[in-house]
Amino acid sequence: MEYISTRGSAPALDFEGVTLAGLASDGGLYLPREWPRFSEAEIASMAGLPYAQLAARVMAPFVGDSLTQEELLALCEQAYGRFAHDAVTPLVQLNERQWLLELFHGPTLAFKDVALQLLGLLFEKFLSRRQGNLTIVGATSGDTGSAAIDAVAGREGVDIFMLHPNGRVSDVQRRQMTTVRAPNVHNIAIEGSFDDAQAMVKRMFADESMTNRFNIGAVNSINWARLMAQVVYYFYAALQFGAPGRKVAFSVPTGNFGDVFAGHVAAQMGLPIEQLIVATNVNDILHRALTSGDYSTGTVTPTATPSMDIQVSSNFERLLFDVGGRDGSAMAEQMRSFDANRSMQLTNAQRQGAAGLFASYRADQDQTSRAMQWAYQHAGEIIDPHTAVGLSAALASELDPAIPMVTLATAHPAKFCDAVERATGVRPMLPARVGDLFAREEAYTELPGNYDAVRDFVAERATPAG
Ligand SMILES: *Cc1c(COP(=O)(O)O)cnc(C)c1O
Repeated sequence: MEYISTRGSAPALDFEGVTLAGLASDGGLYLPREWPRFSEAEIASMAGLPYAQLAARVMAPFVGDSLTQEELLALCEQAYGRFAHDAVTPLVQLNERQWLLELFHGPTLAFKDVALQLLGLLFEKFLSRRQGNLTIVGATSGDTGSAAIDAVAGREGVDIFMLHPNGRVSDVQRRQMTTVRAPNVHNIAIEGSFDDAQAMVKRMFADESMTNRFNIGAVNSINWARLMAQVVYYFYAALQFGAPGRKVAFSVPTGNFGDVFAGHVAAQMGLPIEQLIVATNVNDILHRALTSGDYSTGTVTPTATPSMDIQVSSNFERLLFDVGGRDGSAMAEQMRSFDANRSMQLTNAQRQGAAGLFASYRADQDQTSRAMQWAYQHAGEIIDPHTAVGLSAALASELDPAIPMVTLATAHPAKFCDAVERATGVRPMLPARVGDLFAREEAYTELPGNYDAVRDFVAERATPAG
């Protein structure tokens, strides 16, 4: 399997190459040169497989020769063995038509564990073969940081430096990062906002004094391997409903467009998906783009769903490239103009290509609270606010009610207990397995909002590329 950049001029890479590379050298994002497709008989033969076995089957065409089928299966068994539910991503019924797919049974209670637990193992495997070292540098406003740290803690060949804005993440989120004690984990509380931290990370990726010595890597959702791992649970859910013989629709709480793009990939591979609903909060650049073709940034409004408070959606470029004719030089030109103007119009081909599979929806604070109340009153389920944005869209959908509608439940409600309690009157408890979070000792370094201080800190502790 060969991977190409959405901007057409970076070298093609194999699966191992894209896993370690993150962003393409031309600023684009990697995608398979063509989509692998399963026949109906192949999809039917996956029914009833345990999650890890299904994962190895669905991901095999993307992994190509980079791992043997046995190696891939062993990594999946190890990654998904750490989930607290044997079904890994269980379905929960809300009424005749509405379902939840619970993606939060991993170690840090967020759906990002599904992809990152596997990615940590892939890093270790590929680096041990090359005898190389990877220095992961990232900035987090909460969930990504804890899932990434948990995934690489103690892994050979990887160091992780995670910046969070000092005093601006929740206690649960900070403790999930700072109580992980492993020599390769470095938490940095930086003076300033998330955007300041993010700007320092970007600067480090472009700083030759760092990139010449260290192999600097990323764990955000531009990494292809993350998206690939997310394709699996679309298959898992659809098979439960009788795929390939029966269609299913998904509603996806969306921020960076990674999760819902994985649904698009599943559809390209032959899974009978009737519709993917892109559910946004009031930071609705994607809803505007999909309904009117206007992709322009505004200012970010903080909401009760912080993981969806975005200004731009990096992975949207992958969809625009894929449905808009796969023209790398046109895509590069379109993104150059977007970077200059912070605004662009989708082409007709992009709009029509997206309209075939995607719908979109925007939920404000009130609608989000009402969806939490609905789930509690009608099904006795306590859901988190991100999931509620998706459910709000699912309940408003006018699709044929004979088609099962599955909302992706992206976080455990206890991660956002204040918002949940305000809406439902019920305060969700952290599951017992993370219950001693508040008793564990924390470790992190406070640094000023100054690039040189961060660079020196990383340079003194990271392992050179080798
Ligand atoms: C990251 C995240 C999302 C958004 O997912 P994308 O892949 O960025 O669209 C939604 N909900 C929660 C809880 C998340 O952590």
